[in-house]
Amino acid sequence: MQQTPTSSSRARILSGMRPTGKLHLGNYMGALANWVKLQDDYECYFFIADWHALTTDYADPSRVKLNTLDVALDWLAAGLDPQRSTIFIQSHVPQHAELHLLFSMITPLGWLERVPTYKEQQENITGKDLSTYGFLGYPLLQAADILLYQPQLVPVGQDQVAHVELTREVARRFNSMYKTEVFPEPDALLTPSPKLPGTDGRKMSKSYGNTIGLTEAPTAIAFKIHTMSTNGQRIRQTDPGDPDLCPVGDIHKVFSSPELISSTQRGCRTATLRCESCKMDAARSVCAVTAPIHEARIRFEHQIDQTWDMLREQSAFASKRAEQTMLAVRAVFDLSHDLGSIRRYFTSSEDGQQKARDLSQHSDWWNLPQDQRAKQLRDYWKSNLLPRDIQLFQESNRVFSTLDRELEEPFLTAKKKRIFVSTSRDVEQPDKWEFEVPSRSYEVWTLLCWRDQDRTLHDFPIPQKVFTPDFATARKSLKKDEKVSVSIFRTESNHFFLSIAGKTGKDISALEQNYEPLN
Ligand code: SF4
Repeated sequence: MQQTPTSSSRARILSGMRPTGKLHLGNYMGALANWVKLQDDYECYFFIADWHALTTDYADPSRVKLNTLDVALDWLAAGLDPQRSTIFIQSHVPQHAELHLLFSMITPLGWLERVPTYKEQQENITGKDLSTYGFLGYPLLQAADILLYQPQLVPVGQDQVAHVELTREVARRFNSMYKTEVFPEPDALLTPSPKLPGTDGRKMSKSYGNTIGLTEAPTAIAFKIHTMSTNGQRIRQTDPGDPDLCPVGDIHKVFSSPELISSTQRGCRTATLRCESCKMDAARSVCAVTAPIHEARIRFEHQIDQTWDMLREQSAFASKRAEQTMLAVRAVFDLSHDLGSIRRYFTSSEDGQQKARDLSQHSDWWNLPQDQRAKQLRDYWKSNLLPRDIQLFQESNRVFSTLDRELEEPFLTAKKKRIFVSTSRDVEQPDKWEFEVPSRSYEVWTLLCWRDQDRTLHDFPIPQKVFTPDFATARKSLKKDEKVSVSIFRTESNHFFLSIAGKTGKDISALEQNYEPLN
């Protein structure tokens, strides 16, 4: 299994299931069989939603853990592969709860009340009091489950499309409210779910007690199909029947070969095939799929400890990926875990400032994708290094914060100076940092150099007069939307030089940490 969450070139997908115990053929055909295939083409996250189980089973949680393990064993038996997918337990990744809580602050009640399944399930699930906050909020927990991993796609059945739509709305609201792009809006990847009746002809569902288990023994499956309803077709075996009206006919359509389907249809319509033989054929077709899964399940049942360890390990891995998102979310709410941003209000001592430039405690940022790391660093700079009197400005009785500004726009200081802020890390070549500056007018550039070797941040506020001549020349030869390449390099004698569009560098060592140009 991969050890560090990195962005893969494949699109990321995420899906989950509530732990309701062993899976049935409906669960397999409606979701799991598809997930097994998706593993080849996508970066996959699959989770067992044990907190979701509590939204309806809160009064008796005694089976939740057993059901969780049962689902995991069925997933593994069916071919979900921890080498290729991250398979984890929702409650082992506390970031799901944290993000759900934060989303609950910004989500209007009406959005949740109008989710179609809310009213429907309240009416259908009898014997449980579902007038709880948890039940109303479960689609929002689902939105947090999804967005935490920033997936492009969410494989779902038709009945879950409304939940993905709510997820997109939550993402949109968050991004626009905080002027950020933390959450890409995921699309639903619709899983075709074939009509699969239960043994009594109704939809296969645990609540009807009509299921055929995915990992049941072939003899048990054959017996269930043998006793299956034919929905009133062919009361006498000499009567012709209609296989499109018979649940056994539907089983054939899902599991049998095209040849067997057409010979069954012919035999049924012409009364030349006995129902008993037809059912035996159907059972054989089903067991051809389920028998290897049944055997695999028995093998995995002998490895309960290893399976649980695997789930815990993969949950820890998922938690690392989730933490990448939460770093950005906490920054939005100014809930980051470092003291730095507060320290600045109490001390302006050199020592405090020096501490703030030491990034060694933020080694988790190293794992972030490049764009997120850059944003993280800019946010950090704004909270920890940018002098407080420059930070905020007031206009018509409203206090604005430079925090509102995104990278491509200039930040505005209290005195309305336009500053360009960019970050770079010297990975390609030690002590050399490269930047791309848009062809626009700025009064100050603030270039942040993240030095890999000692994990220190060097900050250079550079006034217009230093960069203007070379920048103006470079801009002349640019096409629309092209940017000017700028670099900073450090010499052995510990001097820093600024070079614009390949021009010989200017010594900018004296500008380090000097925020005068912003005033
Ligand atoms: S022959 Fe098969 S499809 Fe036709 S009624 Fe009998 S069981 Fe159903």
